[in-house]
Amino acid sequence: MIDGAVAEEIKGVVGEDNIISSHAGLYTYGFDASIHHSMPDIVARVHNVEEVSKIVRLAYEHSIPVIARGSGTALSGQSVPIEGGIVLDMTPMKRIKEIRVEDLYCTVEPGIIYGKLNEELAKKNFFFPPSPGSGDVCTVGGMVATNASGMRAIKYGATRDYVLGMEVVMPDGSIAHFGTRTIKNSSGYQLEKLMVGSEGTLGIITEITFRIIPLPEHRAISIASFDSLEKAGQGISNIIASGLLPSALEIMDSVCITAVNKSMGIGLPECEALILAEVDGEEEVIKRDIKLIADICKESGAGNIEFTYDKDRMADLWRGRKGVLPSLSRYGEDMVSVSLADDMSVPISKIPVAIKKFQEIAKKNGILIGTYGHAGDGNLHTKVLINPTAEGSWRHAENAVDEIYRVVISLGGTVSGEHGIGISKAPWMQIERKDSLAVMKEIKKAIDPKNIMNPGKMMQWHGSIISYLRYPENERNESS
Ligand SMILES: Cc1cc2nc3c(=O)[nH]c(=O)nc-3n(C[C@H](O)[C@H](O)[C@H](O)COP(=O)(O)OP(=O)(O)OC[C@H]3O[C@@H](n4cnc5c(N)ncnc54)[C@H](O)[C@@H]3O)c2cc1C
Repeated sequence: MIDGAVAEEIKGVVGEDNIISSHAGLYTYGFDASIHHSMPDIVARVHNVEEVSKIVRLAYEHSIPVIARGSGTALSGQSVPIEGGIVLDMTPMKRIKEIRVEDLYCTVEPGIIYGKLNEELAKKNFFFPPSPGSGDVCTVGGMVATNASGMRAIKYGATRDYVLGMEVVMPDGSIAHFGTRTIKNSSGYQLEKLMVGSEGTLGIITEITFRIIPLPEHRAISIASFDSLEKAGQGISNIIASGLLPSALEIMDSVCITAVNKSMGIGLPECEALILAEVDGEEEVIKRDIKLIADICKESGAGNIEFTYDKDRMADLWRGRKGVLPSLSRYGEDMVSVSLADDMSVPISKIPVAIKKFQEIAKKNGILIGTYGHAGDGNLHTKVLINPTAEGSWRHAENAVDEIYRVVISLGGTVSGEHGIGISKAPWMQIERKDSLAVMKEIKKAIDPKNIMNPGKMMQWHGSIISYLRYPENERNESS
C-alpha cells in the first residue's frame, strides 16, 4: 500500500485529473493481454519527462515499485504490477517531436501508437518497419521495451535495429540520454540497446530516436494451400534456402484458418496449412519473385496458389493474419486462447521438426494448439486453447508449455522471438540463458539497487507461471 502522503505528492505532480485510484480503475490497470492480473496502488497519467522524473524520485525515496505502461498489450505479464506500486500510464506522452527524412530519423515520445507514427511517416514516403500484429494499438515505448517485431522482421529486422537513441528516467529519478541521432555510433557502451527488451526493469523511456527508411514502391502477396502443416513448414524452409528475401513469410494452420474465417469472414482458403508470402520493391522484381515463390511452394507440395497485387485484397489478407490471435478464442464453444508458449523462435530449417513435435505434445497433454507465425524468420506462435475453468486444464497446459520450451531450447531456439519474457516465459528464459543470468542480475542491481523498476519479472520470477491468474481462483489453488 502507498502511504496517503505519497499519493498526495503524486497527485501534486500530475494533477487530480491524471490520477486513477478507484477500485474499478485500478482493476483495469491490473491487466495486460497475458493470463496474469494484479492491481497497482495508484495510476498516474504522465505528460512529460519532468513529471516522470519527479514521480520516480518519490518512488525511489520510498522504495515503491514503478511500472511503465503503454497500451497494455504485452502478452507475458510484463505490464502487470505484481508487487503493486505506481503504474505510469505513458500514453499521454504521444508527441512526434521531429521527422527528419534527410537525416533518416524521427524523434518521438514513447506513448505514440505505432500505426499513427507510420501514418505520419507515410506522408513523407518513409516508414518505421517492425510491424507487430498489435501495431494499430501498441505504443512505440512498449515496442522498444519488448523489442517487438512482426511480419516484416525477415527483411527489415526488429525494433532494436531502428533504435538510435533515447532519453531515460533512471530509477533514482535522474534523466539520462543514451545513443545518438546519427546512423552510425561507436561511442562507448550502446546503452540504448541495453534498454531494448528491458521490459521496464531498468528505467522509464521518455523519448526515442528511431531510424526510418523509404517505403517500398510496390507489394504483392501469394497464398499457397497445403494438406499438411509439415509440408508448409518445409515450403518456408525451401523459400529461404533459395536465396529469396520476401518482406513477409507467414504460416497458419487449420485451427487458425478456421478461427479467422469464422470470426472475420475473410475467406482464407480452407486447408491444413497455408503460407502467406509478401514481396516488396520495384514492379518487375516483385512480379519475378512472387512467381519464384509460387514455384517453390508447388515443388514443396502446395495445392492451390493465389496471387494478388490488389491493395484492398492485400489489406484484407493482412487483417485476417493480424486477426488470428483475437479470433482463436472463437474457435470452439468453451475454449479460449491463452497466451502460453506463444512466441518461440527456432533456426529456420528446424521449423518442420518443431511443428511436428508441438503437435505431438498437444495431443499427449489433451490440449489444442493453433500454430501460426512469422515462420520465415523462424518465429512461431503456438496458441494454447483451453477451457480456463475446467478442472486440470491449467496443469495440462503448463506441462505442455514446459515440454514445448524444452524442445525449442534443444533445437537451438529461444523462448521468445518478439513478445518478451515477463512472467509467462520466465522459468524457461532462465534455462535458456542460464550462463548469462548472473550478468543480467548484476546489471539490474547496479542500475536499480532498490529494485523498484517493474520488480519480480524475467530473471527475478520464481515458481509456477500459473500465478496471478486473471481467471477464477479455484484453478490457481489447484495448480500451485
Ligand atoms: C493481438 C496482439 C497481437 C500482438 N502481436 C505482436 C507481434 O506481432 N509482435 C510483437 O512483438 N508483439 C505483439 N504483441 C505483443 C505486444 O503488443 C507488444 O509487445 C507491444 O510492443 C507492447 O506495447 P504496449 O504499448 O502495449 O506495451 P505495454 O504492454 O504497456 O508494456 C510492455 C512492456 O514495456 C514496458 N514499457 C512500456 N512503456 C515503457 C516506457 N516508456 N519505458 C519503459 N518501459 C516501458 C512495460 O513496463 C512492459 O514491461 C501482440 C499483442 C496482441 C494483444
